[in-house]
Amino acid sequence: MTKRTLEVFRENAYLRTCEAEVIEVNDRGGVVLDKTVFYATGGGQPGDIGSIDLENASVSIGATIRSGGDIVHVPFEGQPPPTLGSEVTATIDWNHRHLLMRMHTATHLLCSIVPCGVTGGSVGSAKSRIDFDLGGHVLDKQHLHDEINRLVEEDYKVETVWISREEFDARPELARTMTVKPPADAQSIRLVKIGDDVDLQSCGGTHVLRTGEIGRLRVGKIENKGARNRRVNIHLGE
Ligand SMILES: [Zn+2]
Repeated sequence: MTKRTLEVFRENAYLRTCEAEVIEVNDRGGVVLDKTVFYATGGGQPGDIGSIDLENASVSIGATIRSGGDIVHVPFEGQPPPTLGSEVTATIDWNHRHLLMRMHTATHLLCSIVPCGVTGGSVGSAKSRIDFDLGGHVLDKQHLHDEINRLVEEDYKVETVWISREEFDARPELARTMTVKPPADAQSIRLVKIGDDVDLQSCGGTHVLRTGEIGRLRVGKIENKGARNRRVNIHLGE
């Protein structure tokens, strides 16, 4: 699938706004731009909300989804979309996104502490979770709490690294989440690296630049999801 939209958040998750042109308005009012700062729902991370502004009007965007190769900005009901060819300014709700960036990065830290298969996960601004297939491993809530906060305090660098499809296929451990795989047709794969050896895995989401930016975390409920499976919930703040 050809991507018609330049995804500027991939290289710089801190961009809140960009100028763009409307290249499609679908029959349900969804807007496709030639360039966007909006992350589309996927990989366990919710899509952005925000606005698409024209000279004399502002369209509130209530959801961002992926459809085929496109990122579709979906206006709230009753909001007329901009017309094809319009020059617009796309702006995300930064407070919402930054919470998700902190939370998303925190889920990588949690992954790095538990040496088990990841069967699912979800990032939310109030709560995030990772599901683990524990095998014979036993989880200790206090240990998780201490370790995840240690990794935050030690303020590791978070960076994006790209590798070839061949290298990725030769290193299956880089696909940490069993249920989320990079697109099958992708020739280069995006990895997110934390510190020198804290965490390294393929991921297409948005992250903060240093683990210290996440702030203190609280490990919430550990839910029993079957004989081998446990769901670990984390929250921002104490
Ligand atoms: Zn990630």
